[in-house]
Amino acid sequence: MPSPTARSDSRLVLFDLDGTLVDSGPGIRASIRHATTAVGLPEPTPEQLRDLIGPPFPAAFRDVLGVDVETAEVMMAAYRQHYGGGAMFDVEPYEGIPEALEDLAARGDVLAVTTSKPAGYAREIVEHLGLTALFAGGVHGAAHDGSVEGKAAVVGLALTQHANRHADGSMAGLVGDRHHDVEGARHHDLPCVGVSWGFGGRAELEAAGAVAVVDKPAEIAAALDDLG
Ligand SMILES: [Mg+2]
Repeated sequence: MPSPTARSDSRLVLFDLDGTLVDSGPGIRASIRHATTAVGLPEPTPEQLRDLIGPPFPAAFRDVLGVDVETAEVMMAAYRQHYGGGAMFDVEPYEGIPEALEDLAARGDVLAVTTSKPAGYAREIVEHLGLTALFAGGVHGAAHDGSVEGKAAVVGLALTQHANRHADGSMAGLVGDRHHDVEGARHHDLPCVGVSWGFGGRAELEAAGAVAVVDKPAEIAAALDDLG
């Protein structure tokens, strides 16, 4: 029996993974350092490390570190070897995230993960954290073969799946921590609720056009309701 607050329209809520649901910084930074060492580059600065987390690799290696296409590919291979070899599990949900997700799911929202990291990694991480059952809308990510790359493409996958399963479904928006999330949502005319605890911060999210920026996971539900 539905609870008094359950929704009837299967509203879809999309979540970025790194920096939004999970603090994956330690594992990602360790794997980036492994990749720079592999091609003889100096250790990235804190600013470079911040800029490298969020946009898809290997383009981020080129844009942030100024390496050429070939070097970026070598770095990508080194990164994957290190990250897939164990660093990916050096991750924890932010405090209050599991409870916030459970609240939304209990109200009838359909939750999905949309990340620009490879879908296989994302599913393993979500499973490792015991959160898979909360994402009825799926865990979506990039394809290793390059056929799906970047936030807008991944969001498109999630929206198509939701539309196919829920004829009467509606779209709430995307919750994310970087300007890429705001831009990927806007590509599909979706609003983005920013989270200040991730890698981008409030100023970046507001400048990119986030409709709201929340400081605690418990504030996500109200921010989504305010979208109307
Ligand atoms: Mg993120």
